[in-house]
Amino acid sequence: MTRSFSRQTFRFAPSSNGYLHLGHAYSATLNHELAKACGGRMLLRIEDIDVERCRPEFEQAIYDDLGWLGLSWETPVRRQSEHFGDYAGALERLVRQGLAYPCFCSRGEVMAAVASKPDWPRDPDGSPLYPGLCRRLSPVERARRVAQGRAPALRLDVKAALARVASEGAPLDWLEKGVGDATRRIAATPAIWGDAVIARRDIRTSYHIAVVADDALQGVTDVVRGEDLFMATHLHRLLQALLDLPTPAWRHHRLLRDASGQKLSKSLRAKSLRAWRQEGMSPEAARRRLAVEALAPP
Ligand code: GLU
Repeated sequence: MTRSFSRQTFRFAPSSNGYLHLGHAYSATLNHELAKACGGRMLLRIEDIDVERCRPEFEQAIYDDLGWLGLSWETPVRRQSEHFGDYAGALERLVRQGLAYPCFCSRGEVMAAVASKPDWPRDPDGSPLYPGLCRRLSPVERARRVAQGRAPALRLDVKAALARVASEGAPLDWLEKGVGDATRRIAATPAIWGDAVIARRDIRTSYHIAVVADDALQGVTDVVRGEDLFMATHLHRLLQALLDLPTPAWRHHRLLRDASGQKLSKSLRAKSLRAWRQEGMSPEAARRRLAVEALAPP
C-alpha cells in the first residue's frame, strides 16, 4: 500500500489506566526528540479501549505530566474509545476472509485442556498456546452457544493467516531501528503467539487490532516504544499484512529500572511522575535524569 504521508510521524500512545512514571516520560521524550530532529510530526494517542480501567482523571494527568515535561503534540488527540467502529471493521474483514473465529473458552477451560501436557508450548507471555478447541466449531454450534448468551472472543487462525500471507509472496519482516547503529531487519514469526485473541469478549476488540488500525489511520511511520512490546510486533506485522496496512519502522527502546533494578511498570506500582513532582522534582531535573538514562547501556 502506498503511503500518503510524506513527513515522518511519531506517536506516544499511553493507556489512561494509571499515572505515568519516568519510563513513560522517557518514551514520550524520545519520540518527541526524534520527531523534532527530522522535522516530523509528534502525535499523542490515548489508548483507552479498556473502558472499565481507563479513567478521565488519568487522561487529564497524561496531558498535565507531558506538558510539565515541556513536550508538545498535535491536536486533536485520538482517543481509542471513540473509534470502536474502526476496529470492528478490521475484525469483520478478518472474519469474512475466514482468518478469525469465535472462541467460547474461558481461561480455566484452556488451562484444563493442556493440564496433562507439561510440554505444551507457551507464548512469549508464558500462557499456553490455544489448543484450538473452538477452531472448528460448526456454524450451528456457534449459533447455539451465542443463543445461550455466551459472548465469544475472536481468535486469529494463525495457520490460515500465515498461509494467506505466504501465498502473496511478500516477506513478513520489519525494520528495527534499535539503538544507535543497531538497525536491522527482523523476520516476523507470529506463530509464537498461536491463535491469539484479537477481540476480547468484553470490549470486542484488542490492543493488537486497535494499535495497527490507528497507526495506519494516523500515518505513523515510526513506532518508538518500550522493548516489552517487541514480541507483540511479530503479531502486529501479520495483522498489517492481512489488513493491507502500510508497514512502519520500529524502534524498541530499553526500559527504565528503579534503584533495585526492577523495571518501571504501572502494574508494579512504579513511582508516578506526579509523585516525583509533588516531592519537588523540577522538569529540568526530570529531563536531566532522562538524558542520563538515554546514555546508559541497553
Ligand atoms: N498503550 C500501550 C501502553 O501503554 C503502548 C502501545 C504502543 O506503544 O504500541 O503500554
